[in-house]
Amino acid sequence: MTEQEFQDGTRCVRAGLPEPAPGDPFLPGPVLAAPYHLDPWQGPAGSPNGYGRPDNPTRRLLEAAIGELEGGDCRVFASGQAAITGVLLALLRPGDTVLLPADGYFPVRAFAADTLQTLGVRVRYAPTAGPYPSFEGVRLVLLESPANPGLDVADVPALAERAHAAGALLAVDNTTATPLGQRPLDLGADLVVASGTKALTGHSDLLLGYAASRQERLLDPVTAWRTTSGAVPGAFDAWLAHRSLATLDLRLARQSANAEALAGALADRADVAGLRWPGLPTDPAYPVAARLLHRMPGVLSFDLGDADRVARFIEAARLVAAATSFGGLHTTADRRAQWGDDTAPGFVRLSCGVEDTVDLVADVTAALDRVADVTAARDATC
Ligand SMILES: *Cc1c(COP(=O)(O)O)cnc(C)c1O
Repeated sequence: MTEQEFQDGTRCVRAGLPEPAPGDPFLPGPVLAAPYHLDPWQGPAGSPNGYGRPDNPTRRLLEAAIGELEGGDCRVFASGQAAITGVLLALLRPGDTVLLPADGYFPVRAFAADTLQTLGVRVRYAPTAGPYPSFEGVRLVLLESPANPGLDVADVPALAERAHAAGALLAVDNTTATPLGQRPLDLGADLVVASGTKALTGHSDLLLGYAASRQERLLDPVTAWRTTSGAVPGAFDAWLAHRSLATLDLRLARQSANAEALAGALADRADVAGLRWPGLPTDPAYPVAARLLHRMPGVLSFDLGDADRVARFIEAARLVAAATSFGGLHTTADRRAQWGDDTAPGFVRLSCGVEDTVDLVADVTAALDRVADVTAARDATC
């Protein structure tokens, strides 16, 4: 049996681990080193370990692990933003055109407007759900699927085919799906980029990003950019991330089940508008998601009308923490507009943790009921 034939949980537990050797740990501890001893005669040619910015043994094991799960070669970065901006800067030249998701991660769009355009890169946008413009003359199409925070899903194989027919590269931000939810390289993408800060590592204790590809001609300049910029994760963060990967399958299973139960509980409530979860058969993204995603994300979004109702909801809930990011062990809710992005003031991204489903559904429903009671009482007095 090859690694690829194992099921998800087995692959996560084994990903990137060295061959067992008596006396060795399952996952070697972090190698904390800037320079390493060199062979006095051979110099850096004598070992892959010469200096910590280009390479580090703990990082290599993590890259092997994520690479196995994504089905390509992987380079990890200090954060998702470092990986995505690194790929864009390494592959785009003045005069090139890049197509970005209009509804994707807001700081990527800010980077494109501030930095890429100043460098002479033409930036175009298309909504994740389409319609997409012609890809003629486009150097790189970046998709984000499911998109954060709107949760639309892109038809990656169809768009990869269109991009390649026009001579464009296709990259997919796989943060929300994780490699267990979607393997963009199998679907025809040239590159995967992602934040490992979210569900991939899932413990809300580190920042990480990565790029993966099967094409050396794409990954080599990205690797060179990482060495030049120094946007590398530290050895301890790389080790923590690798340790957390072993439970990815278990965490996603519970988060996805919690999201399904919550989506069901929220779907019929008059006080919850614009509910989105790609696993809900009535969701506009469902037809594409059901075809492409191996599992549905643990994140859902909805609108409570205004900032005050969002704050009262989070305060009333015992199991929902006010926090940004998503994919962690603890359920969190984020009113995205407070970070200055372009969502409505009452728009909430809710990330399901691994709490028991009955507890979470009861808590969220009770908190919404309390907000509704207070609103009704206040309306009655004024
Ligand atoms: C969080 C996120 C990023 C950025 O990742 P960081 O690790 O915070 O730098 C990029 N893309 C998506 C879709 C994200 O959710």
